[in-house]
Amino acid sequence: MESICKYIKNTINTEFSRNEEFLNYLSVPYKSIVFSIPFKKGGKIQTLKAFRVQHNNDLGIFKGGFRLSPYVSLGEMLVLAFLMTLKSSLWELPFGGAKGGISIDPKEYTEEEIKQIVKEYVKKLNNDIGEDWDVMAPDLGTNETVMETIFNEYSQINKKFSPSITTGKPEYLYGLGFRKFSTGYGVAYATDIALKKVGLKNPRIFIQGFGNVGRYAAVKLYELGYKISGVSDSKGGIICENGIDINKLIKVKQEKGSVVFYEDCKKVSSEEFLTEPCDVLILAALENAINKENVNAIKAKLIVEGANFPIDLEIEDTLLKKNITIVPDILANGGGVYVSYFEWLKGKTSQNFENEDLEKSLKEKIETLLNKTCKDRNIRKNCYTLSLRKLYEIFIKKY
Ligand code: GLU
Repeated sequence: MESICKYIKNTINTEFSRNEEFLNYLSVPYKSIVFSIPFKKGGKIQTLKAFRVQHNNDLGIFKGGFRLSPYVSLGEMLVLAFLMTLKSSLWELPFGGAKGGISIDPKEYTEEEIKQIVKEYVKKLNNDIGEDWDVMAPDLGTNETVMETIFNEYSQINKKFSPSITTGKPEYLYGLGFRKFSTGYGVAYATDIALKKVGLKNPRIFIQGFGNVGRYAAVKLYELGYKISGVSDSKGGIICENGIDINKLIKVKQEKGSVVFYEDCKKVSSEEFLTEPCDVLILAALENAINKENVNAIKAKLIVEGANFPIDLEIEDTLLKKNITIVPDILANGGGVYVSYFEWLKGKTSQNFENEDLEKSLKEKIETLLNKTCKDRNIRKNCYTLSLRKLYEIFIKKY
């Protein structure tokens, strides 16, 4: 939390007349809920740590993902909830910002165990969430099956069919088929548009992370005619001078569990991958991928943040001074929450939205946002300024 506040203080410090009061207001979330989920596994009780941080609802209902990851902590939730507030504001959605999660490694639990844990999570949070109050979505380690569990549990407890309690649901449950692709496709469009703006032709593209975001970013870029030269996941990276067949790579990942099993490529470690020569680096894995240790070795000319918070904000200046253009998370990966808005609407009104219309609208929105914020290379600063301006207007009217 301090990192975002410090960044805002240092970069946008002259923008608002009541700057200090405003920043103090944003630095404390509306509500942080920290609770335990005791769970019996292998004859022993594990006490799981669970969180939901509701950062701000001045622009609309709380909205944000729900993640299952061993790195989930209150500190992480605070930062990510704050980012959601900024993201919803930038994308002009009637949403505020929130984030939730449970500190577990989902790979160590069966699907049935995850279901039990998620049901317990919803039960304990029931009084603090709602279709018109706080709406969840998929995030790291969660998918449409988890969203279905949230929907079922919430509807049952409250005896009310409540599809809009979460987005990212399967299509038969008031979901939108396009939601699954939306974050990754948005990242691909942001990359495509930014490449044209910075004038990079035939770029050497690397993608860090091959989960939901990295995979669909790769699919769309490949479809747009780009060559993907490198992909990595937690087990390592592959670099192929002739380009990677993305459809083949998806099969390899599905069947063998990692991109490293793709044949006829140079293999590197996940850490080495980031510092290999490339023109475009799409960060679609975890937070803090670029940090004090590796910043000086980064060679990309354009970095696109598919994940949330993948660059330590304290070293962003070093990257900018190296003439690297960065498309920040709140712009690059906002396709997810953008399409979530239409899914939320579908749950409330039964109005349906076609995939092609959603994709066209997503692409146009990203183009508009980049036109507004890519005036100079400090796109993050320009995005934050736009987001904060809207929040500031409400702040001064309210207080
Ligand atoms: N988890 C995604 C994010 O961080 C999506 C949030 C949503 O759709 O509410 O942006």
